[in-house]
Amino acid sequence: MQKKEAVSNIAENLNRIKAEIPANVKLVAVSKTKGLPEIMKAYQAGQRIFGENKVQELIAKQPELPADIQWHFIGHLQTNKVKYITPFISMIESVDRMKILQEINKQAMQIDRIIPCLLQFHIAEEETKFGLDMKEAEELLTDRSFKSFQNISICGVMGMATFTQDFTQVKREFAHLRAIFQHLKEKWFTDVPDFCEISMGMSGDYQIAIEEGSTMIRVGSKIFGQRY
Ligand SMILES: *Cc1c(COP(=O)(O)O)cnc(C)c1O
Repeated sequence: MQKKEAVSNIAENLNRIKAEIPANVKLVAVSKTKGLPEIMKAYQAGQRIFGENKVQELIAKQPELPADIQWHFIGHLQTNKVKYITPFISMIESVDRMKILQEINKQAMQIDRIIPCLLQFHIAEEETKFGLDMKEAEELLTDRSFKSFQNISICGVMGMATFTQDFTQVKREFAHLRAIFQHLKEKWFTDVPDFCEISMGMSGDYQIAIEEGSTMIRVGSKIFGQRY
């Protein structure tokens, strides 16, 4: 009973969020743990960009759903699983080390695709979250092999704030990610128009993220309801 109700609210939830955010901010509907009927509700309400954080789950869903869905990978990615998503993925938002870039480039080359990627930064105080710091990012960007990657397009940065009710802390962490973006843009990507995305903001903090310059928010529970 409760579940049915949640499904019928999806379109409503989506429309409410879309009405609230500026037109230049992209909405990634995070559908992890949710089933095909729920995803189809969002699709029928006009949503086209969806985010998943597990390869197994994503490759089980993707063939069952409309081909014009743009899938974003937003979770920790293992090297040996890259090959399963490169044929169809629209963006890998969670690039956090050289090895994974290498593998994405290799797999993308074999199928003649250029894969849009974001560099994930660790901006939260929580140790558990993944991501690069500036030093690691600059090492990656100066690496000889990075310059040889023809099948990757670095389109910006991604980050997750600390899960806390302290809004000033969240705001500070998002401001930090925006500063990282601006620094990278000026130093490494001045002539790269594709380097334009700051993916930050989730159900609990996307309004703050947008105030701090987010261009892409990743919203799950506020669209699909709580995950169990
Ligand atoms: C689950 C998840 C989200 C969405 O979280 P909600 O709080 O449900 O909106 C966003 N980004 C990443 C990386 C996630 O894993």
